[in-house]
Amino acid sequence: MALKRRLLGLAFASADTLVEIDGGGRIVLAMGAAPCAGHSPEATWTGRSLTDLFEARSIERLEAALTDLTPGARSEPLDLMYDLGRGTFRRVRLRLFSLPELAPHLSCALTWLGQPFALEAPQPTEMLSRDDLLRQTSGLLAASGSDAINLAFVDVTGLENVEPDRMDGLKAHLHHALQSVSIDGASASHLAGNAYALLRRDGDASAVEDAIHNVAALEGIDVGADVRQVNLTNGRDRHATLRAMRHALEVCITNGALDAPDVTFHKTLDRTLVQMDSFRAMVKARDFSLHYQPIVDLRTGAVHHFEALARIPGSDGPESTIRLAETLALIDSFDLVVAEKAIRQMKSPGYGLTHIAVNVSAGSLDSDAYGEALLRLSANDPDIRRRLSLEITETASIADLEGAQKRLARIRKAGFRVYLDDFGVGASCFDYLNHLTVDGVKIDGGFVMRACEDVKSRTLIRHLVDMCAGLKLKTVAERVETGQVAELMVGLGVDLGQGWFYGKPEPQPRLEAPAPPVAARRRGAVESWG
Ligand code: C2E
Ligand code: MG
Ligand code: MG
Repeated sequence: MALKRRLLGLAFASADTLVEIDGGGRIVLAMGAAPCAGHSPEATWTGRSLTDLFEARSIERLEAALTDLTPGARSEPLDLMYDLGRGTFRRVRLRLFSLPELAPHLSCALTWLGQPFALEAPQPTEMLSRDDLLRQTSGLLAASGSDAINLAFVDVTGLENVEPDRMDGLKAHLHHALQSVSIDGASASHLAGNAYALLRRDGDASAVEDAIHNVAALEGIDVGADVRQVNLTNGRDRHATLRAMRHALEVCITNGALDAPDVTFHKTLDRTLVQMDSFRAMVKARDFSLHYQPIVDLRTGAVHHFEALARIPGSDGPESTIRLAETLALIDSFDLVVAEKAIRQMKSPGYGLTHIAVNVSAGSLDSDAYGEALLRLSANDPDIRRRLSLEITETASIADLEGAQKRLARIRKAGFRVYLDDFGVGASCFDYLNHLTVDGVKIDGGFVMRACEDVKSRTLIRHLVDMCAGLKLKTVAERVETGQVAELMVGLGVDLGQGWFYGKPEPQPRLEAPAPPVAARRRGAVESWG
């Protein structure tokens, strides 16, 4: 008896419910946990056929396992749907044992999985497109108040083993199941391949896993899921969170990573959210520095002003961080701290005459915040406004040109000068020139570097210079690396030059004249070059 009890203890350690069936498949003994309250196996199962307990599609697989079981062996675990009646089911893992001394009786061990659920016939279910998912997220984030919103990412695993003729049915079922555990039953999106994303209120992702396992058990197909949830309302700025999501999607689409199980969307989003937090912390702590590169009058070699270039700890160059900050709409606070640091530099002893240009991402002109804060920073200081200029970098496109023009006009009226940076590369540079009133353009370094060898670049620069002269705009050649290029730029009529020939960016503005003036060529003499 004692031994029997011990054996029973061992059996229950690995299963919830034990069953013995006779040679005809009828239950002669049942004990252990019930699939739900008020459903005692002992009372309700004894005398019934084992197969009667399950949903129709499970019966077939159970019968096959019973037929295949050899004496003395045990079956592979089978995930089946236990039928609780009235359209309600619960997933159960079942193993069969054939002990020779019990033959022809068989033993079954059952482990209950997930929770009971009502099974509806899967309707054809629409999944949201990625854009719709972003739109829906945006709407929910705007409206949710204190309600939590989670984004669950699901990588369905094992689909590669599904027979092609069963795939459509399985997918319809999966889509239905995923929608049913999403907000309003309509917030799930098929991202690509095996990757899905759904919006959920519930912070616990296990219902999503259960939904997929239920489908797998019901269909009798060995698919699983890797589910990860990210809380979108966890103290972060919701607008930026949405941007992070869009960014992660774009990164994944660009890299084709949505189809690669090892580099998945949720990892990219997690990483983006971490980067977003650390960028904010860096800006708040002002934990970066500026380096200063001279911009000289090409004819005299005298320093005209310095460009302030951000240097971010732990990164090779500022560009990738700045691009990410632009994407995440965090750039205006950064650009403002840059202006603050440049103003401090201009006010420090010995720099009373220094003029400085700071870069301003076009994204910082999408709202009034940057301009207003800049005016506040320099309030009552016309000298600072006269000595500080802005270079509008084109990489982030300006959404509202009219609004940007109004903001720029206010900034220029206060005394600041404004340049368009990297002119010639962005798709909309002429549009900007047409709509925005500025004081000068910086000719993109790519044209300048190619100008000695490439007649096309020279022609472009020459026409650009003529156009700017007509518009009374100053021209600056970027990336002047050699005396030869400097000479060529003088010949082409460019006003100012910046580049390694005159000096690299340094932690302090270098006040002495960086280079002798180049031998000024007559304008027009360049026609004979190269
Ligand atoms: P940019 O405004 O066009 O700045 C000029 C870039 O060219 C700088 O790169 C500079 O170091 C580099 N450069 C200067 N002379 C030469 C040269 O002769 N040859 C070559 N090959 N390169 C030269 P950096 O510092 O890596 O900055 C890259 C970009 O990051 C900047 O391009 C600008 O778009 C952005 N950036 C830098 N600081 C800020 C900032 O404070 N705010 C914003 N919004 N953007 C910034
Ligand atoms: Mg610049
Ligand atoms: Mg530039």
